[in-house]
Amino acid sequence: MRRKLAAGNWKMNGTQANLVEIGKLATAHGESAVDILICPPATLLHAATSYAPLKFGAQDCHMLPSGAHTGDISAAQIKDAGGSAVIVGHSERREAHEEHSEIVRAKARAAQAEGLMAIVCMGESAAQREAQNTLDIIGGQLAGSIPDNATGENLVVAYEPIWAIGTGLVPTLAQIGEVHDFIRARLERRFGAGVGRSVRILYGGSVKPDNAAEIFTVPNVDGALVGGASLTADAFSPIIKALE
Ligand code: PGA
Repeated sequence: MRRKLAAGNWKMNGTQANLVEIGKLATAHGESAVDILICPPATLLHAATSYAPLKFGAQDCHMLPSGAHTGDISAAQIKDAGGSAVIVGHSERREAHEEHSEIVRAKARAAQAEGLMAIVCMGESAAQREAQNTLDIIGGQLAGSIPDNATGENLVVAYEPIWAIGTGLVPTLAQIGEVHDFIRARLERRFGAGVGRSVRILYGGSVKPDNAAEIFTVPNVDGALVGGASLTADAFSPIIKALE
């Protein structure tokens, strides 16, 4: 059985004052039956890790272990700060930083080499969905972005349609199910049934307290990657509860 995962992506939001939200979540969900992961900005990662048993991660990492890369953070540094996971290939980075799948794959590999769980994001644009290219796009991103050494511990796939991120628009349950089933089938084909069935697949894009429960009824949805609604305990806690 795959353990459910509620992951929060704070993006470029939050200062130390916001750690109080993490404290509230740790109190409310200390004994949770699901994994709870918060990916705050890198500036808050180390301070956040005092709120066990929640887990913490970063929103990006460099593909190399160290060196002359001003402004970047390595997987080893994320681990050193107490992180156990890193999001790679978020559409905001694929777009704003021109991170194509080959780069995403190298970053995921770097994270896994340090023992971190790589949350590899992928998703189609509105135009690609309109043109009925969604499964082709996802298939390409899966093949290109995911390293060969996947296990249920070192890999999570996040399906995040670009048009659903931060917009309040959500695909139908059938549309979510179609993509998640497709991802599952591709993972099983590439890695075998054992590993393919153990990798968790998250849905992301405008997950809110009022739509989480129905999204979690869809087969092969093993949790969510939540942006805006992960910033406060008031919003994130009901989403976690819907998964518990
Ligand atoms: P959202 O963001 O929940 O604010 O739509 C999701 C994400 O980008 O991971």
